[in-house]
Amino acid sequence: MTVRTRFAPSPTGYLHIGGVRTALFSWLYARKHHGQFILRIEDTDRERSTEASVDAILQGLDWLGLHADEGPFYQTHRFDHYKTVTQQLLDAGHAYHCYCSKERLENLRNQQLATQQKPRYDGHCRHLKHPPATDIPPVVRFKNPQAGEVVVRDLVKGPVIFNNQELDDLIIARSDGTPTYNFTVVVDDWEMRITHVIRGDDHLNNTPRQINILQALGAQLPEYAHVPMILGSDGQRLSKRHGAVSVLNYQEAGYLPIALLNYLIRLGWSHGDQEIFSLSEMIELFDIKDVNKAPSTFNPEKLTWLNQHYLKNTDPVEVAQHLRWHCEQLSLDLSQGPSLPELVKAQAERAKTLREMALNSRYFFIEEVEFDPSAVQKHLTPEILPLLTELSNQFAQLIPWQPTNIHDLIHKFATDQQVKLGKIAQPLRVAITGSTVSPPIDVTLHLIGRERAVRRIQKAVSLIS
Ligand code: GLU
Repeated sequence: MTVRTRFAPSPTGYLHIGGVRTALFSWLYARKHHGQFILRIEDTDRERSTEASVDAILQGLDWLGLHADEGPFYQTHRFDHYKTVTQQLLDAGHAYHCYCSKERLENLRNQQLATQQKPRYDGHCRHLKHPPATDIPPVVRFKNPQAGEVVVRDLVKGPVIFNNQELDDLIIARSDGTPTYNFTVVVDDWEMRITHVIRGDDHLNNTPRQINILQALGAQLPEYAHVPMILGSDGQRLSKRHGAVSVLNYQEAGYLPIALLNYLIRLGWSHGDQEIFSLSEMIELFDIKDVNKAPSTFNPEKLTWLNQHYLKNTDPVEVAQHLRWHCEQLSLDLSQGPSLPELVKAQAERAKTLREMALNSRYFFIEEVEFDPSAVQKHLTPEILPLLTELSNQFAQLIPWQPTNIHDLIHKFATDQQVKLGKIAQPLRVAITGSTVSPPIDVTLHLIGRERAVRRIQKAVSLIS
């Protein structure tokens, strides 16, 4: 059997962190078993589904590298399939037309509530021999078994038992012929030959209904794994109140996809006390059966810690690809600066996020340095003026322009002038970057380039004079 998992978001909002974790678990499970991962967009709720949300889902998954082997399939493109299967259930006597008016259903509900019963359809039309004389367009209801129980053998939660008496006859097609959520999921999981349904545990209550429909269709049941939700630090379900929830917010904030994936895999799953997992380790070690039953708590500090780890320890060429995006967001002209992998090497120690790295690297790309007034006041003093002038003259002659040569020149200069290195390095740094924070001065000078550095020093000198 080939393992086939799916991620089936409804495009009614952003792709949130909980959804991404479900997608990750499904993707990993498919990868681990050399199976397929299918993306299905559940857009049948036409009022709430938006194109912007579909785009955000596709963009988010793409950014994270959770690529689908099949899809995206859109449920709105599959209405004909759902109609065919509805008819199949009607023909086999597993479904029936229900003509009950809104008023009747409302009265029924009120009566049930008044007598402390759980509101549910009473099966009024279940045994109709002939359609009634009415112009009410019927809905189609599934004939749920009235006795027995459904045992969901959940891979995370263990067996969960539902009594069929608790489940009423679910509407599978509305009066306008459109299918309902629980039905489209069943048809798709069946037709797409899904072997493992991994999803949020807010869907656990739908599962017995879906199993009953699958059984009526003679379909083989998939395995189910319902993943507990993610809570904020206050114990409430993670939401906007807790900060960024859309996956794209994390891209904008400067996280690396691998850091977010590593963070999410550890939410409710562990492998000893290992914290850092490469993608191939995730694939090798993750098993859905080992996911915790209890909800897990989101911890932004840990995510930031992981991000720093990956900024420092990932191939700079790869980090640079992500840094490029951030530089572009800041409209930095990349043709006017150093190579991005070199920049990553120089800045990795100094930034928690890619956004911070891009913001702190502006002076490598813009012609006019933005001076921090307090740094200027403290370090660009009149007595430093002759030293800076002399240094810039020496820089102008320095060939090749490499960190080691630059380093040696500055050291020799300090010795010759009988000044401490710090006395010259900090004013130099302010002159070429505008502030007191940058990578080591030789590396910074190298990345800025000789001509530009010399120009900047001269400019700073004229600023002091
Ligand atoms: N479309 C559903 C949602 O976004 C998920 C359905 C499922 O995974 O079965 O919540």
